[in-house]
Amino acid sequence: MISCSGVGKRYPGGLTALDNVSCEIGAGEMVFVTGHSGAGKSTLVKLFAAIERPTSGSIVVNGQNLAALRPGALPYLRRNFGLVFQDQKLLFDRNALDNVLLPLAIVGTPRHEALRRAQAALDKVGLLDRARANPIALSGGEQQRLAIARAVVNRPAVLLADEPTANLDVDSAAGILDIFRAFHQVGVTVIIATHDPQWSGLPGARELRLARGSLAQ
Ligand code: ADP
Ligand code: ADP
Repeated sequence: MISCSGVGKRYPGGLTALDNVSCEIGAGEMVFVTGHSGAGKSTLVKLFAAIERPTSGSIVVNGQNLAALRPGALPYLRRNFGLVFQDQKLLFDRNALDNVLLPLAIVGTPRHEALRRAQAALDKVGLLDRARANPIALSGGEQQRLAIARAVVNRPAVLLADEPTANLDVDSAAGILDIFRAFHQVGVTVIIATHDPQWSGLPGARELRLARGSLAQ
């Protein structure tokens, strides 16, 4: 599904975030990208979705070499990914259901089908009974679940999350992890960047451990 070969990332200003990273993530895998703050976790997952560009090496996603990607092909590449990122904010001017409907509206899904799928996605994250609630009225854990529903509603092959349990209490974090595992169990490739050590070593999952921009073996 994703193949990185000799990937390096140096940000403007000269800081090297990743150095010679090579890894393979197969379809249907569940992978935790772990490491201390500043290790390069966020950078690596952003490279996968072409949010950032590598300064060296190559990344192939679903047979597509990202270096050769035409600008017009970017939206199609992104459809492989459901993103649960800190900067993908929920919209507080509309209810939970409308937040989940938005990605479907963007790709032109007919209203009736969109409603059905948005409700199915809310159901999968346990928020169907909160469909008409404004996200502001939801707890931190519920807001994160809503973000997951929005990320998966287009049925992406890969669910890509960056620190999805940051700022959550232990119980809410465990609930979020269960949701990711449920998507993994139905065949979705799940990639989660986390500094939370309790997540590494989870059965059925693989860890990619970064230390100062390099993959630990
Ligand atoms: P992590 O997610 O493991 O905390 P990051 O990938 O966010 O690590 O950051 C890796 C390194 O790259 C850090 O030293 C960070 O300060 C730096 N960095 C991240 N994003 C940028 C950016 N946009 N510009 C410059 N430096 C950055
Ligand atoms: P449908 O498959 O008809 O859309 P489902 O009741 O099976 O309805 O639930 C669909 C939901 O499954 C989606 O809205 C989404 O939340 C979730 N999902 C996302 N990606 C996948 C996937 N790759 N495989 C299975 N389910 C997925």
